Amino acid sequence: MNTVYNWQLGRPMGYPYPQAAPKEQFAFVININRCIGCQTCTMACKSTWTFSKGQEHMWWTNVETKPYGGYPQHWDVKTLDLLGQANPRGMAWNGQPAADPRAPYGALQHKSIFEAPEVVARGGQPNLVLGYLPAEEEWTAPNIHEDTPPGGLNKPMDFGRGEDATGDRKHKAWFFYLARLCNHCSYPACLAACPRNAIYKRPEDGIVLIDQQECRGYRKCVEACPYKKSLYRGTTRTSEKCIACYPRVEGSDPESDGVPMETRCMAACIGQVRMQGLVKVNEDSTWVEDRQNPLYYLVHVAKVALPLYPQFGTEPNGYYIPPRWVPTKYLEQMFGPGVQQAVERYRAPDRELLAVLQLFRRSNRIIFRYEMREGPKVWETAVAGRKFEMFNDTVIAFDRKNREIFRTQVEEPIHVRSERHANSI
Ligand code: SF4
Ligand code: SF4
Repeated sequence: MNTVYNWQLGRPMGYPYPQAAPKEQFAFVININRCIGCQTCTMACKSTWTFSKGQEHMWWTNVETKPYGGYPQHWDVKTLDLLGQANPRGMAWNGQPAADPRAPYGALQHKSIFEAPEVVARGGQPNLVLGYLPAEEEWTAPNIHEDTPPGGLNKPMDFGRGEDATGDRKHKAWFFYLARLCNHCSYPACLAACPRNAIYKRPEDGIVLIDQQECRGYRKCVEACPYKKSLYRGTTRTSEKCIACYPRVEGSDPESDGVPMETRCMAACIGQVRMQGLVKVNEDSTWVEDRQNPLYYLVHVAKVALPLYPQFGTEPNGYYIPPRWVPTKYLEQMFGPGVQQAVERYRAPDRELLAVLQLFRRSNRIIFRYEMREGPKVWETAVAGRKFEMFNDTVIAFDRKNREIFRTQVEEPIHVRSERHANSI
């Protein structure tokens, strides 16, 4: 076992391969607060990559309703259970989120999926990665438990008001949509587990791919990926997964005009909740400080976007702005110790955060840099007992060649329909 640095865990971590980092890393942020569960992203991916015969169960990207939904069913609960068995003294983080970008969530005290397998090896040889192979039936219903809330409703649409352990007011009955795709992890479990070395991480953009010529369908990647985003296809007897629409990200897609473009699932999002980009990384996988890159800003400066199940240890490159109405305890086991701070900041965003949130889905081009121009104050109110002011600032997005892609304002324009077309659609 080698030692690598995992900044999401805030500590060195055991991993089967030596430390290696790409020049840039594919990453994305999804704002759960605004996802409407329309599945447009799911279908954009399916209609582009996995529509052929034999790919009926290939949902490279999906949107599931939490807490009960999952594809495959119960994928996260099962992995958490395994991790719990491997850490009988309990699973915990030490301390609180800190300013240090090498350990922004504190340090993980228990073993990750790469450090735990010896403990729970089932007879004979331990696997390289802690995991499980889902049963056939667990792959059969991609939207099982859609829109099912825990907590019970007193009457239809009465979500009530509760108070959770943190004193925050949360909904008594709640659910939320979790849009998922391969996280193109910095330490991919799929890659670590493949006995044929058929999985590789591209040095230019960190995208993780399965070489279909080399794959023999052993399903070790399916077993190892804690997010269950490597899927076995019976008709080809190989495993396949999200390819991050790499021709678009490279800028080699005919539509991309030579500059990096976002993936299909990101570009199709009608809720405007997704932003994908490329971040520069250091040799130890920490992010190079790049204050004006919107992803760097959301993850490391505003700290409103958090990794999904960082305790697994793969250093996923998918980040989520957690939903405001969900009990904090539930969110903390899913996104780590930064949840409370992230929710508070999102609930009353400062003017820069509000401006950066306007960048989501205004263009299909990848934004490498943004600038702000201050505008007048347009509104004032109180949020959680504190003064909140809104300014009509302008935010400008630039592509890789430092050309302006678009500019937009915080205040959305109001278009008044003329009398003549008052009722036309
Ligand atoms: S999410 Fe799973 S399939 Fe994707 S890179 Fe990480 S371990 Fe591999
Ligand atoms: S397209 Fe956007 S809003 Fe619709 S389900 Fe996907 S992430 Fe959510």
